[in-house]
Amino acid sequence: MNTSKSARLFEKSQKRIPGGVNSPVRAFGSVGRTPLFIDHAKGSHITDVDGNTFIDYVCSWGPGILGHAHPEVVEAVQKACADGLTYGAPTEKELKLAELIHEAMPSVEKVRLVSSGTEAVMSAIRVARGYTGRDLILKFKGNYHGHSDGLLVKAGSAALTTAVPDSSGVPASYTQNTLVALYNDKDSVQELMARYENRVAAIIVEPVAANMGVVLPEDGFLTFLREITQQQGTLLIFDEVITGFRLGMGGAQEYFGVKPDLTTMGKIVGGGMPMAAYGGRKEIMDMVSPVGPVYQAGTLSGNPIATTAGIVTLEILKQHPEYYTDIEQKAGRLAAAFRERAEKTGEAIWVNQVGSLLSAFFTAGPVQDYDSATASDTKAYADYFGRMLERGIYVAPSQFEAMFVSAAHTEEEIAETCRAILG
Ligand SMILES: *Cc1c(COP(=O)(O)O)cnc(C)c1O
Repeated sequence: MNTSKSARLFEKSQKRIPGGVNSPVRAFGSVGRTPLFIDHAKGSHITDVDGNTFIDYVCSWGPGILGHAHPEVVEAVQKACADGLTYGAPTEKELKLAELIHEAMPSVEKVRLVSSGTEAVMSAIRVARGYTGRDLILKFKGNYHGHSDGLLVKAGSAALTTAVPDSSGVPASYTQNTLVALYNDKDSVQELMARYENRVAAIIVEPVAANMGVVLPEDGFLTFLREITQQQGTLLIFDEVITGFRLGMGGAQEYFGVKPDLTTMGKIVGGGMPMAAYGGRKEIMDMVSPVGPVYQAGTLSGNPIATTAGIVTLEILKQHPEYYTDIEQKAGRLAAAFRERAEKTGEAIWVNQVGSLLSAFFTAGPVQDYDSATASDTKAYADYFGRMLERGIYVAPSQFEAMFVSAAHTEEEIAETCRAILG
């Protein structure tokens, strides 16, 4: 495979952009390679600047549930552009997207549109603190909620693979209100909630953890979080930036039947444009300025182009409930191929899958939390990554990211991918 143009661009980019990339995992550092520079993408395929085309299972880390450059989304965006790129004033489109979100997730009675998942989570936490009058928040080791200061404590995602437990540049005083419990470990939550009784503003959780690889909540874990928060007047925040509109229109809260007080969304909700959202019960959201005392604002919040992409994407998903069963079944076939490989070769491979999200961990497993996820052999993952790339398949360049299946992946492409997995 010729990747000379990518290599040249990477070298030049490193001179002007830190690490040559605008988000660390893109640098391919954890698989010991140089990144591919992308020229274009269509449907389930992504093509680099050297003309290599791959079946794409990164899907821009989640937004691409319909595949790349869906014609209806692209057409609507192009049309919206002609009407002006941004106004800084309310539009009917924002109302429409808010209504679509509420319809999909009834717990989101009121919603604010923002520009990134990081911003959505940061804002939801501010609202939770404003509403409860408490400072502490509780998060889980290995859950990732964006890169805001108070949450960069033992964060997952790229911070995990690059073995940086915290980030430099975050004052200790900014994280002293963050408590860290263990995912799927009720006792660790119970202990912190007892020690800081009636002082925790919110528990924030990825209802399906997808930034330490995919890790499912154990039976009863989310219900337990719902109950313990209710007992102490603590808010429950579901970070559905990945799971929202991914596990079904209603996200993880519908899938597992647990209703949070606040929800953060991103990725799919912007249909591939920079857009995210946070929302929840109306009396909580009415804390937000200009109604209430919690300040939050954004020049490009509810941007008409991003809002258009979000509306069209959600409308297509709403019209095609069969997409969800289809992508879940396809992800199931990929998961089965990994298990078959493990059986045939004797390699230690553990697969977690839910809906169209899956991860193959190079460890004997089971993988149910941060420690069992990070027991994976990242060198074995890097070898697998290289093998897949050679066979024309683009998977996440890190053990600790999800594999995403989109509605654009065909039966034949899934079969081809299964053959590549089996080697
Ligand atoms: C991606 C992600 C974020 C951060 O979103 P950005 O748009 O990258 O800022 C937050 N939470 C979860 C669960 C995510 O997967």
